[in-house]
Amino acid sequence: MVNSNFDFLIIGGGIVGLSTAVQIQQSGKKVLVLEKEKTPGNHQSGRNSGVIHSGIYYKPNSFKSQLSIRGRELLVEFLRIKNIPFRLEGKVVVDKNINKIENLLNRSKDLSMEGVKILTNHELLEKEPNSVIKQGLFVPQAGVVNYRKVTEALAEELKSHGGQVEYFEEVVSIESKKGGKVLSTKKNKFFGDFLINCGGLYSDKLAKLDGLDPSVRIIPFRGEYYTLNKSKSSLVNNMIYPIADPDLPFLGIHLTKNIDGEIEAGPNAVFAFAKEGYKWTDINLKETYGSLSYGGMLKLGKKYFKTGIKEMYRSLNKKAFVNEINTLVPGVSKNDIKVREAGVRAQAVDKDGKLVDDFMFQEGLNSLHVLNAPSPAATACLAIGEHITSKVLR
Ligand SMILES: Cc1cc2nc3c(=O)[nH]c(=O)nc-3n(C[C@H](O)[C@H](O)[C@H](O)COP(=O)(O)OP(=O)(O)OC[C@H]3O[C@@H](n4cnc5c(N)ncnc54)[C@H](O)[C@@H]3O)c2cc1C
Repeated sequence: MVNSNFDFLIIGGGIVGLSTAVQIQQSGKKVLVLEKEKTPGNHQSGRNSGVIHSGIYYKPNSFKSQLSIRGRELLVEFLRIKNIPFRLEGKVVVDKNINKIENLLNRSKDLSMEGVKILTNHELLEKEPNSVIKQGLFVPQAGVVNYRKVTEALAEELKSHGGQVEYFEEVVSIESKKGGKVLSTKKNKFFGDFLINCGGLYSDKLAKLDGLDPSVRIIPFRGEYYTLNKSKSSLVNNMIYPIADPDLPFLGIHLTKNIDGEIEAGPNAVFAFAKEGYKWTDINLKETYGSLSYGGMLKLGKKYFKTGIKEMYRSLNKKAFVNEINTLVPGVSKNDIKVREAGVRAQAVDKDGKLVDDFMFQEGLNSLHVLNAPSPAATACLAIGEHITSKVLR
């Protein structure tokens, strides 16, 4: 049976797909979201650091910069309206190299971010008395929230205004027909005028099903975390971040007091042997072959061989992870931490082996594909939805 009469079909009930659906629906369009899992936000959107990013890290004028700053505003408004708990207490970014801190401060000035300041030793210790590194930058715009809750609230918002989300519907084929799209799942067919692909880890595969030849491949990078035991939870007041390697789109292992008050350490970035490879033992040979036989991945592997090995070592060796934590706060031992569920990043890699830094969108025939929406896409979700809406309702 064909379920028809939809203006927009959206693949993916993650935070990006649902934000987009909510935004498009506001213009009176009939929207259907198809999600292969039984609930919203089961993948990246429900397994992340829960940080509301300030936007300070991203190159001015990039999608990431513009959409995270705008998205943060929209997100905070949404959280207030929906009564979703969040904290906006800011974070401390530390580094032994004052030049790096000054560079980040200058970036905040370029972005007209208010209240960002270099802390004196005394000020830093007032905010984070246990920080090993005594110089850093305070970024007041950062905060924490549970993005799984946000994703669930978006699904409710969509449904409460007449939109539809169908779960257990994995799209397996896409056909262009009668000026629109037919999406087939194992159980049903759905017809709509326009397709938006927000399939996260599978967005490259879905773009191919739509007849595109995307210039990137999604490579899964697992981000693993530990939670500090309660006895150590007073080591961090809020958030302590190192300054990230500017060549990599990952922010490095940091310490965050999550919305439930637990201190989380992570994430690392380890190549995953399955798109949804949340553990070392989650192996999908076809997907691993797909990643490793991709020319871009081979080039990336060569370029970051040492970094990759270091990440794997730290993943397999708890002591090495603990040592990393102790570069930020002292006195944490192997017995003070327990494993938290991991997440897997959908990171686009291009044919030259470059980790695509910015968000990436590609248009097809009556379709738009989100081909790279890694961090801070949860912070930016509503602005990404706004951006997509402005493109597809042109
Ligand atoms: C470890 C980690 C830490 C992060 N930390 C932060 C952070 O602190 N702050 C922040 O802003 N961002 C963070 N991010 C990034 C953020 O979580 C993601 O950018 C965001 O969740 C992406 O949302 P999405 O909807 O694109 O993807 P997803 O949440 O992965 O959703 C895609 C959905 O598509 C569905 N799907 C796939 N294929 C099909 C198909 N064929 N048919 C039907 N459905 C399909 C999947 O089941 C999935 O639900 C982090 C990400 C990770 C992995």
